[in-house]
Amino acid sequence: MLENVIQAKRIVIKLGTQIVIQEDGSLAEDRLHSLISQCAQLVCEGRNVLLVSSGAVGLGRQVLNLKEPKLALAEKQACAAVGQNLLMDLYRESFEKHQLVTAQLLLTALDFSDRQRYLNLKETFKKLLDFGVIPVINENDTVSITEIQEDKTKSFGDNDKLSALVASKLDADLLIILTNVAGIYTQNPLTHPDAALIPIIEGFEQLKEIGLDGKSMYGRGGMATKVEAAKIASMSGVHTLIASGLTENILLDACQGKDIPGTWIMAQNAIPGRKRWLGLASGYNGVVVVNDGAKQALVSKGASLLPIGIVDVQGDFQSRQIVSIQDEDGIELGRGLIHFSAQETRQIQGQQSQEISKILGLNDLDHEVVIHRDNLVIYQEYSV
Ligand code: GLU
Repeated sequence: MLENVIQAKRIVIKLGTQIVIQEDGSLAEDRLHSLISQCAQLVCEGRNVLLVSSGAVGLGRQVLNLKEPKLALAEKQACAAVGQNLLMDLYRESFEKHQLVTAQLLLTALDFSDRQRYLNLKETFKKLLDFGVIPVINENDTVSITEIQEDKTKSFGDNDKLSALVASKLDADLLIILTNVAGIYTQNPLTHPDAALIPIIEGFEQLKEIGLDGKSMYGRGGMATKVEAAKIASMSGVHTLIASGLTENILLDACQGKDIPGTWIMAQNAIPGRKRWLGLASGYNGVVVVNDGAKQALVSKGASLLPIGIVDVQGDFQSRQIVSIQDEDGIELGRGLIHFSAQETRQIQGQQSQEISKILGLNDLDHEVVIHRDNLVIYQEYSV
């Protein structure tokens, strides 16, 4: 892995709100100038750098002098619009000092869930990198916060996931998530003084025993969202580093392979092309819960999903939309493009395949599967 990091050609760097702004809500200018100069150095070494920057809402809140701890949605969106402007001013001016041009990209989850937009965006990114431009990316909060959590195809909810999707989409070699803690600990370090920093995670099984509580101490996105982001990156063949952006020279030291405090998460086997979009980027419109027999068939035998193994259908999706496939404990096994609508799937759940056409009153008798293997991504198949 060390060799891959030293030679990493394309690096996505995510700066969390706590890194971008100071405790009083103002821009952490000195810290940002230092991080930007490290980015410029990485570019001089012949690498592509893409920045995903949070901080717009926090910055806007300070400028508008909004002191209440909880803001209404529209207030947050207004803050994002004000803060984003100031953020970009700093990035543009600071990168210019290193003769580098920046571009602002404000994205919504729809830009990833809609395949055509997803493909277009990829081309734009590639062109920007060809031009030697530094893309500075944030979620388009002014239009997307409203949908948070309601539909998994409409909002990222946090910039950790956004940064992982950008890394995945662009076949990056490395994703660096900078926050205000040194990485993933065995326990919450605030409440457990003997908590130890985990230097490397080679497989996600390792994380099962770790309590990822202490959301507030880990910042807005929380450590759980960073682990989720690392999973997306990992299944796209991208290594991830979670480290503190308060550590001096962190970007250069990490990319030179020096021993730095942080948690490295190793890349797994990359999910190929269209399946990567299906399994990681598209989001999903509903959930299909399967029993143990179906789980075994999907995970170990590479089977298609048959109606007999379905025990529950959640949500209201249409045919040929994407669903999340979960076991009875709510663990997501993968995702797939489903042949039937939620209503139809409920009618055939638990039934034999031969019954599909009869139950649904379909003329052609070819219907045997609910999700065909070719339209299915099972995550475990890509773990090393
Ligand atoms: N987009 C938000 C902002 O710029 C940050 C979201 C996050 O921290 O994950 O303030």
